[in-house]
Amino acid sequence: MIIEIAEDLDRLALARPRSELWGGPLSTAQYAERNIRLYAHPFGKAKIITWLARNNDGNLLTSLDTFEVKFRSGKEIVTGYHIASVYTPPDQRGHDHARKLLSTVLSKNPSALSILFSDLRPSYYEKLGYESFSMRENILSAQAVDRRGLETALDSKSFVKELANRKEFLTKPGVTVEYDELYLDWHIERFRYFSELTQKRLPTEIFWIGEHSGKLHPIASIPNFVSGNEEGMVLDGQCSHCINFLVNQAVLHGLPSARFWVEDRVAPNKIPMIRNAAVPWVDRQALDYW
Ligand SMILES: [Zn+2]
Repeated sequence: MIIEIAEDLDRLALARPRSELWGGPLSTAQYAERNIRLYAHPFGKAKIITWLARNNDGNLLTSLDTFEVKFRSGKEIVTGYHIASVYTPPDQRGHDHARKLLSTVLSKNPSALSILFSDLRPSYYEKLGYESFSMRENILSAQAVDRRGLETALDSKSFVKELANRKEFLTKPGVTVEYDELYLDWHIERFRYFSELTQKRLPTEIFWIGEHSGKLHPIASIPNFVSGNEEGMVLDGQCSHCINFLVNQAVLHGLPSARFWVEDRVAPNKIPMIRNAAVPWVDRQALDYW
């Protein structure tokens, strides 16, 4: 197995098979264009690597992306990795190539925390030290509901500060993404592309702080004009004020539904797994769309 870092052309070649698996409503060309944008973003350039494994004839055996991000794990801020887009060509499956490539990549920083979403049985990644945890996406129909919370828009810098300061997390230490403005903006880049594709305007206000039952709750809420969901990051998935805010934002942006994460049983095709966490509790809200 020869391991290389992908160049732009290698990534373009991967766009077709990846789009068939994960492109959803996007065409292959749109999926490729979206990925070019995300790799070209300053976060993508600095922090995302596409790893390839080939045989001696140069044929692709398997591939995956690593995103270097900061996590808060207990009281520590640590560097870690999201593992994404693990793809093995159909004629190469069943030879353990993906696990060998991932194992080599992880061996460069063996104690690093990492998270992935598996569409294989959990035991595949358990052999590398990953453990699954419960998490699923919750999709609620958009409806205008009576809001009793008070929300104020924030700029991204203030939002990052509010995320870092939230008291709930400090009383229940766990693992969460430690966002900075660049990584948040990288997520927004995806929604910018969807907005251009559908010729619908993104709102200028995306980040909020809610005063909910005497507590301050940071909320991120942005329309995904391709999926039809208002995509939410609510730091307390149980707070009805936060959830009502999201479904109202969906109405405001003309979307049928709002989507966010909850701590619950998982869908078998998207099992969240974590490795090297210092503490067992994982914050579900901050891991995927944001
Ligand atoms: Zn709330």
